[in-house]
Amino acid sequence: MKDFKEYTREKPDKEILSRLISYIKPHKKRFILVLVMMLVSIIVQLIPSLIIGVTIDVVISQTLTVAEKLNYLVYLGGGFVLLMVVAFNIEYRQSLWLQEIGQKIILSMRHEVFEHIQTLGPAQLNQVPVGKLVTRVTNDTNTLSEMYTNVAANLIRNVIYLTGIIIVLFVINYKITLILMLFLPVVFFATILFRKYSRASYRQVRSNVSEVNAFLSENLSGMKITQAFNQETKKRTVFYEKSNHLRKSYMKEILVFGTYRPLMYLFSMIGVLLILFLGIGDVINQEVYIFVFSAGLLFSYYSYVRDFFEPILQMAEQFNMLQNAFASAEKIFDVLDTKPDIINEEDAVDLSSFKGSIVFKDVWFSYIPDEWVLKGVSFEVKPDQTVAFVGATGSGKSTILNLIVRNYDIQQGQILIDGIDIKKIKRESLRSHIGQMLQDVFLFSGTLKENIKLFDETKTDEDMIQAANYVGLDHVIENLNDGYEHKVLERGNNFSSGQRQLISFARTVLYKPSLMILDEATANIDSETESIIQESLEKMMNISTMIIVAHRLSTIQHADQIIVMSHGKIIESGSHQVLLKEKGLYFNLYQLQYEARKEE
Ligand code: ATP
Ligand code: MG
Repeated sequence: MKDFKEYTREKPDKEILSRLISYIKPHKKRFILVLVMMLVSIIVQLIPSLIIGVTIDVVISQTLTVAEKLNYLVYLGGGFVLLMVVAFNIEYRQSLWLQEIGQKIILSMRHEVFEHIQTLGPAQLNQVPVGKLVTRVTNDTNTLSEMYTNVAANLIRNVIYLTGIIIVLFVINYKITLILMLFLPVVFFATILFRKYSRASYRQVRSNVSEVNAFLSENLSGMKITQAFNQETKKRTVFYEKSNHLRKSYMKEILVFGTYRPLMYLFSMIGVLLILFLGIGDVINQEVYIFVFSAGLLFSYYSYVRDFFEPILQMAEQFNMLQNAFASAEKIFDVLDTKPDIINEEDAVDLSSFKGSIVFKDVWFSYIPDEWVLKGVSFEVKPDQTVAFVGATGSGKSTILNLIVRNYDIQQGQILIDGIDIKKIKRESLRSHIGQMLQDVFLFSGTLKENIKLFDETKTDEDMIQAANYVGLDHVIENLNDGYEHKVLERGNNFSSGQRQLISFARTVLYKPSLMILDEATANIDSETESIIQESLEKMMNISTMIIVAHRLSTIQHADQIIVMSHGKIIESGSHQVLLKEKGLYFNLYQLQYEARKEE
């Protein structure tokens, strides 16, 4: 998953093409039908110029009587109208069906990409900015759908159309057509140049767009900090600079297209002039038969030549779009080809029930190779116990919780869940028994109720209220005029961090897990909420096995076991009383917090 800038194609075109075609397969019949209709519609489109030419010849004919002329005109006119009706119908249905196919493909692709992203582990997701994944799911799939509907089909159409025109031109007059073909190398050369420049300018635009987007998404999220530190002017300047770059690159792209189109138009005009010059002699002076034209045929011929350049022009642009679509496709396939780093082993088992026993045996773990975060950690949690981890920031407490839910795989040692190696347990089944209350609580936009139930319709309101009351969330809800229907803003910004914590408690209690893990928020909370949290925690300890990472030591005095971490190692463990007697690090920490309390 690379950036646009450093983007170089790695997958061969052939592979991408065959994968792209595989998406059409479910719609094969429709697609072939559309192609056939396209062919018919092109033939129909080629006829009118000829009819008009013949009509002209009929009108100016000196051999036909007026009655005969009128007769011919009725037939020609009728034929013309009929053709238009047929052409309209075919065109209408064909383009509708094509768009339908395109939309279906984009839908299935979007689902596929989203589902795949869901299977990726935190380590993999951390490596890609969220904004880029959003681009994959929305913009890139869009580009691809465009390719199916506008580009691929029209490219085929234009090839057929161009071939049709050339055939008709040769049939009407092969001599002039041969002269006309001399233009082709020039057109070809101009087109190659155009493609080269337009590709470069397109890349530049894409790279600048992604710069602006990345800057925006990061700075909109961080706006509070920007304002808090009065950095608005600085950020504004950077933004202006980036969006100005974008404008310039757009202008370059427009210039390239703006040169190519008129140039092709110029060619077509020269071609038309040449034909008039060569053909007009035939029409006026019927004795000098060089090219053998009647006035009507000359008109038809002229119309075809005029039409001749249009498909070339379109094809040049379509080739570009195809190139872009391939780039998008490769990026999407890159995401799809990223194998989830944490997968169920073949012989992994379902954990039908979970008593709550956890054993770490000499566990070594690092996020980045050789930078050990856990260095030989061993401990045991017995069913229904409450175990607390304390220690300095960065000592590896959250990491241990991450390993228990298998967000990451360890490098050395063993983790046993109810006596089974964690790697031999299906990940979904492991997680179904664990309730996680993480350091930063994430709330979805929706109502409070939806956030507690996590949009699970099978949970009843009674159970939800019971869970909320159990953890003391009722104190918070009493103060909301619309209670459980209260709107939660994005990320839960309209709740304090203590309140968010309580919501996450209620969420967990509602799901009745066999193991609860809690990563206590470091943020300061008011003393009233703190005592509510304290109370509900003590109650929750009775529900099931519980592992707490605690920052306020008052929270965990009743824990069965307290484990003190420092620099990725366990340095002390035991109950509150035992640890106090040992007068080690825990004792010091406790003294510090106790003193601070007294001063308050
Ligand atoms: P705190 O009390 O501040 O929450 P902690 O004890 O929970 O600290 P951890 O989050 O376990 O600390 O982090 C332990 C170490 O691992 C830190 O040095 C941190 O820099 C590193 N670390 C944590 N997460 C990652 C990650 N995703 N990638 C790389 N390193 C990480
Ligand atoms: Mg932590």
